[in-house]
Amino acid sequence: MTDNNVKEIAELIKIVSKLPGLGPKSAKRIILKLINNREELIKPLTNTLAQVYKNVVRCKICGNLKSTNSNCVCSSKKYDQICVVENISDMWVIQSSGIYKGHYHILGGTLPSFENKSTGNGLLIESLVSRVKKNSVKEVVLATSGTIEGETTAHYIADSLKSTKVKITRLAKGVPVGGEIEHLDDGTLFSAFKNRSSITDD
Ligand SMILES: [Zn+2]
Repeated sequence: MTDNNVKEIAELIKIVSKLPGLGPKSAKRIILKLINNREELIKPLTNTLAQVYKNVVRCKICGNLKSTNSNCVCSSKKYDQICVVENISDMWVIQSSGIYKGHYHILGGTLPSFENKSTGNGLLIESLVSRVKKNSVKEVVLATSGTIEGETTAHYIADSLKSTKVKITRLAKGVPVGGEIEHLDDGTLFSAFKNRSSITDD
């Protein structure tokens, strides 16, 4: 950024440009807006960011975001349905569609489509199995993407859950092949949920 000789601003532009959907041009617009509204925007933003940095972590059990000051939703009460998604933005899409009201489990990504799967790749799969056991969950809805990685991950999870006898369902093929949950419209998501099918043997 040679066009800005204030060091702090140049640094801020650099950081904000890294946010999704923003390039240097829109970053500059945002920063200008902030600077022109120091009290109304910069001050509360600074405070809120500091709070989030300090207090918000990923739950090691369900992968959701939680405040360090309170218990995670996954430990709150009994539940009998868990929807498994790859990441938090997938969960937010499903939540805002209003299709599903149960609990979530956020894997933190997918398994690679081939090669050694035995490590689980740091995904929260073991903790999913123990959640299912501990809460006598009745159904696990696998809402991973229609990509090869998403399919691989779904099969791996189904295998891992075999001993629990839980009913496992997979979103219907309304999810297009290669489709990522995050980019589905509500209609597609609704029919995929409604027509989800069991992938357990019985
Ligand atoms: Zn949790």
